[in-house]
Amino acid sequence: MERDGTLPADGFAELIRGRTPESAGYLFAKASEARDRVFGKAVFMRGLLEFSNHCANDCLYCGIRRSNRSVERYRLSGPEILEACSAGHGLGFRTFVLQSGEDRFYGPGLVAGIVSEIKASFPDSAVTLSLGEHPTESYALWRRAGADRYLLRHETRDPAHYASLHPRGMDVEARVRCLYALKGLGYQVGCGFMVGTPGQTPELLARDLLFVKELGPHMVGIGPFIPHRDTPLASAPPGDVDETLYLLAILRLMGPKLLIPATTALGTLDGTGREKGVMAGANVIMPILTPAAVRGKYLLYDNKICTGDASSACRACVQRRMESVGHSVSLGRGDHPDLGAGPPAPGGPSPAPGFSASRPLPPAARGAPPDVPAPEAR
Ligand code: SF4
Repeated sequence: MERDGTLPADGFAELIRGRTPESAGYLFAKASEARDRVFGKAVFMRGLLEFSNHCANDCLYCGIRRSNRSVERYRLSGPEILEACSAGHGLGFRTFVLQSGEDRFYGPGLVAGIVSEIKASFPDSAVTLSLGEHPTESYALWRRAGADRYLLRHETRDPAHYASLHPRGMDVEARVRCLYALKGLGYQVGCGFMVGTPGQTPELLARDLLFVKELGPHMVGIGPFIPHRDTPLASAPPGDVDETLYLLAILRLMGPKLLIPATTALGTLDGTGREKGVMAGANVIMPILTPAAVRGKYLLYDNKICTGDASSACRACVQRRMESVGHSVSLGRGDHPDLGAGPPAPGGPSPAPGFSASRPLPPAARGAPPDVPAPEAR
């Protein structure tokens, strides 16, 4: 696998099934070597801004799913998003990851305006979007507005398993089409999956690894499944940290240049899970920049860590944690080694229609009213 970056499906399944402490230790050492050859000991820090917890979808595992009526919903306005980015920029962050549920309140033009404004205000920074499935035209608009990267976990490549985790009407093929569309538009693209969802088998995980190989993403995010008490999967057992780390190491050996985060979910199930993630081959960490007033409301799963800390405390804590395992933090953009900060889109940079880098935000972006009901609630 180290030579070819892949195995046949049954080879991956056998590797996963045959995990022992010894084989895991061996893989972690090889994965760390592979990562260090490309990136050295630097772990890239990204600032994660969760700007809305409204979602039109109803994924069975997700704490902010549409039908969870116990969630206190919030939306950040354009200025609030910019303010959080400004604070993050002051702390040294040079990548802002804008994440939300699939919230139709933020239409394509509004998102494009916010992206344009962030890029105009912080031209040395990258913008990553993680907003779910959208029409290709919206992805293209946001790319032209300056978005650099897009994260869209595929969750599982197996259609039947996907159907067991999502409501009728959601289809893994649609998600895969989105990933290829994003790649075609020149985004640095991230896919990913949960480890330990109910019914998952080594064969299904092998299928996910083969999909990663086929797609050729720039980033892969994986984390252990963690149940949320207000979802249909509330009583399912959580995923296994050791198995997640093992898969992370396999991904690193498959793609030495990949950007792989040590996820908050790892840190939630294990107090030193993020450090272990880095020791297994991860090279990205994402402290939270979401304003403290709403941070505790973006709970995709139970007991999520870092919901009570100020952004500055989060950043300092993460830096200490990385240094404790012999790594430094890098606050550069942290692009994929093959890409870098190229032009925003085929055809050259151009602001989103209706927005100029030097113009103020449009009215909607200036005052996204937090009390506008979600489309699903209207
Ligand atoms: S996983 Fe994403 S798309 Fe699914 S309900 Fe949660 S926020 Fe919405």
